[in-house]
Amino acid sequence: MTHPRRRADALYSDLFVPDETKRIREDVRQFCDDVIRPVAHRLNTTPESKESFARAEFDAIAKAGLYKIPYPTDVGGLGLEFPTLATCTVLEELAYYSPSLASALYDGQAILVGKTLQHAPPHIRNKYLPMLIRGEFVGCFATSEPNASTDLSVKSIETVATQVEGGWKINGQKRWITNSPVGDWIAVLCRTGDGLTMLWADMREPGVAVSAPDLKMGNHVQLTADIHFKDVFVPDEHVVGKVGGGLRTAITALVLGRMGIGAVGVAMAQAAFDFSTDYMGKRKVFGQELARFQHWQFKFAEHALQIEMARNLYQKAAIRYDKEGGADIEAAMCKIAGSRLACDVARDAIQVCGAYGFVKTLSGPGTNFPLESIYRDAKIGEIYEGANEIQSWVIARHIFGREFTG
Ligand SMILES: Cc1cc2nc3c(=O)[nH]c(=O)nc-3n(C[C@H](O)[C@H](O)[C@H](O)COP(=O)(O)OP(=O)(O)OC[C@H]3O[C@@H](n4cnc5c(N)ncnc54)[C@H](O)[C@@H]3O)c2cc1C
Repeated sequence: MTHPRRRADALYSDLFVPDETKRIREDVRQFCDDVIRPVAHRLNTTPESKESFARAEFDAIAKAGLYKIPYPTDVGGLGLEFPTLATCTVLEELAYYSPSLASALYDGQAILVGKTLQHAPPHIRNKYLPMLIRGEFVGCFATSEPNASTDLSVKSIETVATQVEGGWKINGQKRWITNSPVGDWIAVLCRTGDGLTMLWADMREPGVAVSAPDLKMGNHVQLTADIHFKDVFVPDEHVVGKVGGGLRTAITALVLGRMGIGAVGVAMAQAAFDFSTDYMGKRKVFGQELARFQHWQFKFAEHALQIEMARNLYQKAAIRYDKEGGADIEAAMCKIAGSRLACDVARDAIQVCGAYGFVKTLSGPGTNFPLESIYRDAKIGEIYEGANEIQSWVIARHIFGREFTG
């Protein structure tokens, strides 16, 4: 399969994006063309196993300095003026070839784990964040459990940390934890009395047991699994933030993660759009190319409009966050817009490409096709890092106030 040209280069103008972000996009695109594109089909279609973890790509991302992008210079980062915007741009570029690689190795590692560390007390931040930036460990961020995920209230969380001499002992179970089959360190949300606390735990401690990777519909590069904690000791100095302040710590990282999912959605939509519009210019039905049918012209004109809006929205969310330190509404909006769009464009792209949209590998000629995996990978964006209904709730809260929305 030849790679279609990027229609974004013709349709999209990065008029209000700062020069530093343009440079990052250019460099990261080159990295993705060289390193991710050649292996993307294999990564996106290989079922999950511990052995399938994308270790070579993880190391390459670290070596290329991509983990430096979100962070200030004192921990080894680039110290950009618009770090969140650049981070989301990296996610868009990585996800153009592999959304689940972007989600696991960048959204999970660089945002959820990294941003948790950035807000940790100095002795944790200054030790572990430089290690993360250098790619010296694989990190996990654990809030979800078998019986609690969207609802992270104290009464729902069943993983408990009890105080012992010099620290805490964790008992309980987390579920769906990205990177956990190969994880080294984990930020884990625990019930501590009548509050929730985030602890930074060593996954090689006795008492930590991780199951085999879950076998999912999509996002195969994003290995998830159950983690059991049995009397796992965490020293006092590994409390991230305040005892009882764990939910705030988690939500701070998740707001950025939501912008990331918005950018990943834009990438998936763009990749599906590029492949299918290229195909439409070549494939003839009833004696003329599919691109000559006004039905499809209008559908893809509408998708172009939606991609433009979703990209602008994640960029606005990121710029506002970088300038003002918060962007809850835009984060919620861009998460909905990007994730919904990815599903919509992938569905129409498969429809217009017919069987060539549905196939993974055409075995006779040995040709690979990308839409099958984009379609499977798109759905989870509407569910995780706060289901889209929760994002609607955030927006509704700003319209009607907590008095009405709770
Ligand atoms: C690939 C993958 C990776 C993941 N990685 C991680 C990770 O690294 N760390 C982690 O902690 N978790 C992770 N998760 C878990 C993920 O965040 C949860 O699956 C997600 O939060 C939804 O929780 P749930 O599946 O338990 O659904 P539930 O909480 O049971 O919700 C089910 C559905 O109910 C609906 N719903 C919920 N609340 C409302 C409401 N107020 N109003 C209307 N409808 C509502 C939504 O449609 C939602 O999808 C991952 C999951 C997957 C599949």
